[in-house]
Amino acid sequence: MQTSIAVLANATSTMTQSGIDLYREKRLGWRLYRLAKIPDVLGTEGSDKVAGESVLLAVDRRSLVRTTNLVVTVLVVILSALKWSIAGSGFLPIGGIIITLLGVCNGIYLARGGASRVAARFIVLALSLGMVYGSFTTGGFGGPIVLLAPVIPVLSFLLIGPRAGWVAAFATALGLLVVLTLHLFDVVPPSPQTEQNLIIGRFIALATSGVFVTWVIWAFAASAAALGQRNKLLANTDHLTGIANRRFSENFLKQEILRARRSGEVLSLIIADVDNFKRYNDVNGHQAGDKCLQRAAGAIKRSARRPADMVGRFGGEEFIAVLPNTDPDGAFAIAECMRQALLDEHMPYEPGKPEIVSMTLGVTSFPGKEIDAISGMVRLADRALYQGKEQGRNRVVMNLPLSHSP
Ligand code: GH3
Ligand code: MG
Ligand code: MG
Repeated sequence: MQTSIAVLANATSTMTQSGIDLYREKRLGWRLYRLAKIPDVLGTEGSDKVAGESVLLAVDRRSLVRTTNLVVTVLVVILSALKWSIAGSGFLPIGGIIITLLGVCNGIYLARGGASRVAARFIVLALSLGMVYGSFTTGGFGGPIVLLAPVIPVLSFLLIGPRAGWVAAFATALGLLVVLTLHLFDVVPPSPQTEQNLIIGRFIALATSGVFVTWVIWAFAASAAALGQRNKLLANTDHLTGIANRRFSENFLKQEILRARRSGEVLSLIIADVDNFKRYNDVNGHQAGDKCLQRAAGAIKRSARRPADMVGRFGGEEFIAVLPNTDPDGAFAIAECMRQALLDEHMPYEPGKPEIVSMTLGVTSFPGKEIDAISGMVRLADRALYQGKEQGRNRVVMNLPLSHSP
């Protein structure tokens, strides 16, 4: 648990600084990687991100289907050339030619932006036709091509879905039954291969299907892992500002409290609330209000720069910063820096008027051994924040536990 939270903390800070940089996504395709990047906090429109999410899954399947199509086509061309060179020019590899032609059509269809579901079905269809036809011309059940049959349901399952996998398994079994029946009744033409060539052919078919299935499963697993990791990051991110959300902030604080209790180190907490934000919203509209919150998040994030620091959005126009191993003076200085950073953004409440958006911050700092619960720390910082509001806003107020007060 501890490690996973630490990893997430790390990932969240990377995410908010330069976008998600997932090694596996990079390997799966440049377009997927580009879509996975969350733009920097400032200038990000929430609605764009939603569009990005829904496109992501489709693009992920598309890259998988595109690569599978390419691998199938290239492998079949190589195998057909091999067959031709071994069996001689009298034996046209018709099954291979069918798959190659369908593969090329599929490639053109995909390049023109065709649906990946249709393309996936095309690949499966091409392989099924090639398998059934190829097995006749290479000796029916005794030929090498029939060994490629298990690839078809596996591909259907991975590229289309579980139901398609079962349908393909049934259809493949039916195709094999047809080949078997025709073989038993001697309808299959005799194999053009010598016994030795048949053994080599079987080896090539088995090795190819092994490599092929392993490759597709690897690509699928990498894609699923990248999406899983991305979902985890999104579940912990505030959609509007790109910093950690309340869920992650609370978990992080709980974890840091446990750590501080054990080590005895000081743990500080800042709660910041934008002043008179309702007024800013009412005058400038909600969209401008959202931009304002993004800039406030940016100002807070820039001010807490230690790798262990965590900043998050607690709700509405309220933010939280958890500063591990930071004493009261340090926490006060950071809060002051946040306050100043927001003033530096120079956002007037009303156009042409001198008053600019500010925030009030409540700070508390506990020696690790004295923290009893998350609620105690939050209560003290909250009380400091409200004192600051009562005293006139745009200030930092400190509220230390009794034992810690001078
Ligand atoms: P105070 O200085 O006492 O904090 O006053 P305030 O106006 O900032 O506080 P109040 O709690 O009265 O109003 C907060 C407003 O924040 C109300 C709501 O319209 C606005 N708000 C909350 N979440 C969002 C958001 O995600 N986007 C926008 N644009 N506004 C939000
Ligand atoms: Mg407020
Ligand atoms: Mg508030």
